[in-house]
Amino acid sequence: NANMGRPAPDRARSSNLYRRGQRVFPAGVTRATIEKDPLPIYLERGEGAYVVDVDGNRLLDLNNNFTTLIHGHGFGPVVDAIGDVLRQGTCFANPMEHEIALAELLVSRIPAVEYVRFVNSGTEAVMYALKAARAFTGRSSIVRFEGAYHGGYDWAEAGQNGIGEAGVSGRRLPKLGYRGAPKAVADSVIVLDFNDASGLEEAIAPVASDVAAILVDPMPSRAGLLHPSADFIAALSSTARKHGILIVADEVLNLRQGYAGASARYGLEPNLVAAGKIIGGGFPIGAIGGRADVMAVFGTDDKAPLVLQGGTFSANPVSMIAGRIAMEALTPDAFDRLEELGDRVRNGLAQAISKRGAPFSVSGATSLFRIHPKMDVPATYRAAQMSAQEAATMRALSRHFLTYGILLPFGAAACLSTPMTAAEIDRVVAVFDDFLAQGEP
Ligand code: PLP
Repeated sequence: NANMGRPAPDRARSSNLYRRGQRVFPAGVTRATIEKDPLPIYLERGEGAYVVDVDGNRLLDLNNNFTTLIHGHGFGPVVDAIGDVLRQGTCFANPMEHEIALAELLVSRIPAVEYVRFVNSGTEAVMYALKAARAFTGRSSIVRFEGAYHGGYDWAEAGQNGIGEAGVSGRRLPKLGYRGAPKAVADSVIVLDFNDASGLEEAIAPVASDVAAILVDPMPSRAGLLHPSADFIAALSSTARKHGILIVADEVLNLRQGYAGASARYGLEPNLVAAGKIIGGGFPIGAIGGRADVMAVFGTDDKAPLVLQGGTFSANPVSMIAGRIAMEALTPDAFDRLEELGDRVRNGLAQAISKRGAPFSVSGATSLFRIHPKMDVPATYRAAQMSAQEAATMRALSRHFLTYGILLPFGAAACLSTPMTAAEIDRVVAVFDDFLAQGEP
């Protein structure tokens, strides 16, 4: 094995920066989602499919800022356009043509979207979509699926880390996950199993008169990057229709699954869509989109808003222009190419696993994939949960990838970007195969 015995990369500068960070940030970093195994890798710059860290190591980036950078780093057309924007002003309290142009693009591509409102993050997009659903239906509760990540909004967070003990009602209440949310949130969040088509109607029917929305990510990444079954999609539609519940599709991450987004790909017909990440071209963004009658809760020419949505930086021209340019470059051909590369990486990894008879599996679709330390692809959040030993195996895998110059996100979707080629994909597969060849740590 030619790669065996490669020395660990130098991380002296990252180590020094971490020590500084620890003096000013709780836990040393500004986001809980930063990998620290054993220390965060501080970056200096990005170049297409690669990033360069402060110690001069060049790494293939399979994280792409949590799947945001579908064109990789420093995408030429965005960089060229934004240079001029910076000189002309970066945020205004008056509207600009740029926001109309990006909204037009989203409306033309995403079947469920007739009207749009822009915000600054995916968290805000989900938050306003849930508020809109409550305002439209006059109901309070939200149904969501165990383990799915929907951002940092209280109602979206409850149930992200599973379901807890039975409450006074006898119903098992969601774990709030973290301590910042009021306890009352748990009473109005119903957490169900993703892909449990037969249990859906039964679970919702008794409480349906107070359910405003079913919040669903068509392929929840943190829950395991689970593939939605056709039965499940059909059950969502029939239960929602029967009880007058709105479907809110969280496509913040999965809009990257195709020209028309993930709901269209999997046959889901949402009333509201929350978007983010790729639609900002690398700048902060979120969007709520939906049918005109539902979006009317944000106000109409003759009616005051039922949900007040503003935002100091919402629809700033930098995000709007970068987003439109990045999205325009995502032609149907670009999506086809990403999907081909995705198939290549998933098939390559799966072949290495079967060749070695290793206890791993691969989930995902289009430009997304996730490696599981499990014989079978997990079908549920529970099945995707790692034991301490499995987590240790995955940490060892991430470290192995790092040693060979590849950044693989831990416990979340890895993603491809348009500057990647078959050469990068084959290297990912070869480095994984090399890990399997060395056997379990
Ligand atoms: N929803 C999903 C499915 C996400 O993956 C994320 C972010 O990772 C969010 C919502 C929250 O988006 P943001 O981090 O922009 O607030």
